[in-house]
Amino acid sequence: MTHHRSWAEPWKIKVVEPIRMTTASERKEHIREAGYNTFLLRSADVYIDLLTDSGTNAMSDRQWAGMMMGDEAYAGSRNYYALEEAVREFYGFPHLIPTHQGRGAENILSKILITPGDHVPGNMYFTTTRVHQELAGATFHDVIIDEAHDPASEHPFKGNVDLDKLDALVREGGAEKVPYVSVAATVNLAGGQPVELSNLRRVADYCHARGIRVILDATRAVENAWFIQQREPAMRDHTVAEILRLLCECADGATMSGKKDSLVNIGGWLGLREERLAEAARGLVVVYEGLHTYGGLAGRDMEAMAIGIRESVEEDHIRSRIGQVHYLGKRLIDAGVPVVRPLGGHAVFLDAAAILSHLPRDQFPAQALAAALYLESGVRAMERGAVSAGRDPKTGENRYPALELVRLTIPRRVYTQAHMDVVTESVAEVFEQRGQMHGLRFTYEPELLRFFQARFELVRAPSETGGAGAGGIALAQLEGRQALG
Ligand SMILES: *Cc1c(COP(=O)(O)O)cnc(C)c1O
Repeated sequence: MTHHRSWAEPWKIKVVEPIRMTTASERKEHIREAGYNTFLLRSADVYIDLLTDSGTNAMSDRQWAGMMMGDEAYAGSRNYYALEEAVREFYGFPHLIPTHQGRGAENILSKILITPGDHVPGNMYFTTTRVHQELAGATFHDVIIDEAHDPASEHPFKGNVDLDKLDALVREGGAEKVPYVSVAATVNLAGGQPVELSNLRRVADYCHARGIRVILDATRAVENAWFIQQREPAMRDHTVAEILRLLCECADGATMSGKKDSLVNIGGWLGLREERLAEAARGLVVVYEGLHTYGGLAGRDMEAMAIGIRESVEEDHIRSRIGQVHYLGKRLIDAGVPVVRPLGGHAVFLDAAAILSHLPRDQFPAQALAAALYLESGVRAMERGAVSAGRDPKTGENRYPALELVRLTIPRRVYTQAHMDVVTESVAEVFEQRGQMHGLRFTYEPELLRFFQARFELVRAPSETGGAGAGGIALAQLEGRQALG
């Protein structure tokens, strides 16, 4: 007889970092000062920080020991070779160009592969990836399956590429105008949704028959491999490490942010198969990042990433990592909160368009919801909707993606199940108050990647302007409760 076993973490806690709960009136001050943008809050004023899983990982004792083994030579650091070996073993790319983080790799890759006027199809855009493609002169085209844009669709692989959309684009633009197809695994902006191995293989066959390269955004490919093991029947008996290699075999190159899957606080790389391309990339890395054997990283950072790669593919690790995300998601679903289904790998995404259906899209409901959650509880989340999508570079108009989401992103090996319970209660509380929430408008809007530094003010109903009324999002309630106790 088999008994149910939970996903408890395959580690115990050796060092703790104290965090402090703030009062409601402190938080009101802090979110106003931050222009209602959670990116502009100070970390010290945050209780549970679910802004991102990027670089927020807790390293293991083995990684910290590795930090002490940093070889800080300018050229040919021992740690570079350790990283090269780990990338070859687990990702399978023979040429490794280290970069300070993922976008450093995206910059170099876009510059070596894109000619102005090119078209780059991909399974939904990612902010930094698309900016580098556009800065290099390309136009990005979303060729993800339609289900990805529907937060209620239960498709198990919402990250899949729609081959008909891809084919239509290639026929229209001409294969020679498509330098590569950009495939992310998992797809961050679709809600951490995975790509199916068989889908990626079909994409690779299609592209390679036409002389088009496939570039993998491998940032969360380990998490993607776990979903494949769980959901793609033919892959059930393969290890996560084996599936990761099979995913990478479909690609001619990969950009990587080690700050996600690889359990470090900084680092990234560009992996390539072709010697000629690797030579071009090494030529650029010295201009933008640093020498080709450190790419903007200290030796100790490369060592920590090499060890993190090995830890990231361990079955017990990845099972508990995604297990914790799904624990939070299931509790929110039980509380009746609309979230993106099925649950993804690194985060739970609240469907802000559904929750704040009384707010028009140009008042940025997801931005407003993230600010309200901080006000309620000190939990910091991130907007992933129209603010993140930015403006169309040609028309200057706001882009309104189908998904208007707030992301509760879970750092790896950092928070406990009790923290997840507090988050559930906080989100449920805000959900109760949703009818009273105000929208936002820009007071400062940066040109590129505006979501990071934008500032906002509340949009109030005409009857409220000039009055002594609410000073914050659903703040009347908040202040009322404070007065009571
Ligand atoms: C974080 C991320 C990047 C960029 O990596 P950085 O290390 O933040 O520069 C690229 N693609 C995806 C899918 C990401 O999540």
